[in-house]
Amino acid sequence: MGDSIFAASVTPGISSEALSFRAVPDDCIFCKIVAGELPAEVIDSDEHTIAFMDINPATRGHALVVPRAHSRDLLEIADEDLTATITAARRLALRMQETIEPAGVNVLNSCGRAAWQSVFHFHLHVIPRYVGDPLELPWIPGPADQDELARVAAKIRGE
Ligand code: AMP
Ligand code: ZN
Repeated sequence: MGDSIFAASVTPGISSEALSFRAVPDDCIFCKIVAGELPAEVIDSDEHTIAFMDINPATRGHALVVPRAHSRDLLEIADEDLTATITAARRLALRMQETIEPAGVNVLNSCGRAAWQSVFHFHLHVIPRYVGDPLELPWIPGPADQDELARVAAKIRGE
């Protein structure tokens, strides 16, 4: 899906920069949900975002929040769409608190195939959590090697 052919229209004589051009894959399922071309159980929407139920829920109430404008992932999304999407995710978490009353919530984003992303239109998972639900922390916490930790921190800082 993420490797799909990109369809883009260009107006002759006008540069792509002038059009604020952004390529959108023509087979993006979340764009189709935003456009109303694919069915979804929509639970919230605003000018910039839409939220709908995940068809393979991890827990009862698992939902997705997506920006209406297509962007592939966390690295590509515009700041204003990211702000709108996390704000909508929090609104949804608050609404869940009042309605289905989970014991907690995870807001999750996967960026890149290696990080479990399978739909390449940015989205936040809003996953209500319940005591004794089947989800588990996906890593085993253990103390860092302090030298390695300092080395990678320096690298990230650009030193
Ligand atoms: P990710 O693996 O983080 O990219 O998440 C993609 C999510 O989209 C998965 O949890 C899927 O179950 C969900 N999903 C895929 N297609 C649909 C659809 N048509 N409607 C609702 N959720 C979907
Ligand atoms: Zn899309």
